[in-house]
Amino acid sequence: MLTEQGNTTTNMRSYQNFINGKWVSANSGETYERKSPLTGKGIVQIPWSNKIDTEQAIQVARQTFDSNSWSKSPARIRHDILRKTADLLRAKAPEIAQTLCEEVGRPIGICFGEVQIAADVYDYFAALALNIHGESTTQYVNNAIGLTMYEPVGVIGIITPWNFPLLLVSWKIAPAIAAGCTMVIKPSEFTPSNTFILAEILAEAGLPEGVVNIVTGDGPIVGECLVESPLVDKIAFTGSTAVGKQIMAKAAPTLKRISLELGGKSPNIVFPDADLAQAVSGALFGIYLNSGQVCQAGSRLLLHESIKDEFMHQLIPATKTLKLGNPNDETTTMGPVINERQFQRIQSYIKTGQSEGAKLLIGGSERYQVEGFEQGLFIQPTIFDSVSNEMVIAQEEIFGPVLSVITFKDEDEALQIANNTMYGLTAAVWTKNIDIALSVAKGIRAGTVWVNTYHASGLEPCMPYGGYKQSGIGREVGHQGLEEYLETKSVHIKLAE
Ligand code: NAD
Repeated sequence: MLTEQGNTTTNMRSYQNFINGKWVSANSGETYERKSPLTGKGIVQIPWSNKIDTEQAIQVARQTFDSNSWSKSPARIRHDILRKTADLLRAKAPEIAQTLCEEVGRPIGICFGEVQIAADVYDYFAALALNIHGESTTQYVNNAIGLTMYEPVGVIGIITPWNFPLLLVSWKIAPAIAAGCTMVIKPSEFTPSNTFILAEILAEAGLPEGVVNIVTGDGPIVGECLVESPLVDKIAFTGSTAVGKQIMAKAAPTLKRISLELGGKSPNIVFPDADLAQAVSGALFGIYLNSGQVCQAGSRLLLHESIKDEFMHQLIPATKTLKLGNPNDETTTMGPVINERQFQRIQSYIKTGQSEGAKLLIGGSERYQVEGFEQGLFIQPTIFDSVSNEMVIAQEEIFGPVLSVITFKDEDEALQIANNTMYGLTAAVWTKNIDIALSVAKGIRAGTVWVNTYHASGLEPCMPYGGYKQSGIGREVGHQGLEEYLETKSVHIKLAE
């Protein structure tokens, strides 16, 4: 059995792969034990699958798709399954939120929030499932009629990360079901339980066997097998830009479709006329949600030079009120980071920031001790001032609770700094001036721009999400998120003269 560092306990969840509606062990019998980022003790055991397991699951998904019973099923059936899934998710929110809290290490309240917004995703795509239709072209010439038809893409390989595992897998499963696709899912080994619980829910909601299959294991083995398989029509991936690039290269020989949701280094820009108290809260939430382990984290805080001192005067004490601790305690605002590797990576970036001359205002690279949880992987909220946009800490995705503060003189300079990274996932602008808000929203090269808010507006899941530049390819959620799972067919009908 493979394990992370830490102690083993007998009291833990255990899952098998989910293939063709059956629970099956990895053919090698190998398992992987996920350790709690809070206590270091084993919390969940999953199959450590190989190529043979993955190919079995792919075969099932292929045969299920090709049999047409699912892929050509009436829209009403797919709608009803999605609607019921939304209701079941809400009903099982306490159980799922608990597994997210344990495995991600994130405060329980935010875990409940993830379940709720994931449920909304199934409701949204249930509605879209009833509304998939093409167009007709009748007036271009007199003696022909054109029809466009939408059809499911086919077998989808879904590969997901650990930071918002339920939401990000739902962004892919829900439109794939709405479209009539089948799928093989490889969740992150660090946060697998929610995907298995989802499989149980989907089965209870009436999803036929073989439509959703789950195989757990190592990314370079199970993930690559999905990416390289000629039987898989599309890969839907969320994860790091480095792995996204490998997936793009490995998908090329089979020329399959890919959608990639990758990393970010998002600017959070505050103009002098902004409501500073709200912008301070937005800056805190923007960077410290999920201990900064968020692709869209507002990791670069761009402050107009005229308000910088006043802003920092409010930000520092507000940061000190954040409480690190047991994520299951409702008063905790920041839990541990996901695993030892990520912990070391964040620490090393903090040291890099210090060595390249940024001014450490608060936090630091030492392990933060929480009484009773000495094994907990805690990193304090960290703020660097006097950061220049060329520094490593301003250019690379740290994926931890580390904020870089940069000042700007005017809108042109703010945009120039904001756009000067290889990423283009999200951005935010804080101002009461509609001209500045819209001009910055237009000027930013990123897939999402928030105005006077960060992370959420209440409009999810109807707004498309995805990256410019090296933050990704394709869009999830919104109607664009459904189109990623549909092929377009043109039918030309020649009329008798
Ligand atoms: P990761 O890239 O290490 O892993 C993501 C998934 O890919 C995991 O399931 C992993 O096992 C698998 N994988 C690893 N190597 C693979 C390979 N060679 N072939 C196929 N699959 C492979 O990312 P992570 O550490 O799990 O998540 C953090 C990253 O995800 C961050 O960079 C973050 O920005 C990104 N992310 C992006 C979004 C978005 O919507 N843009 C959302 C969340 C996270």
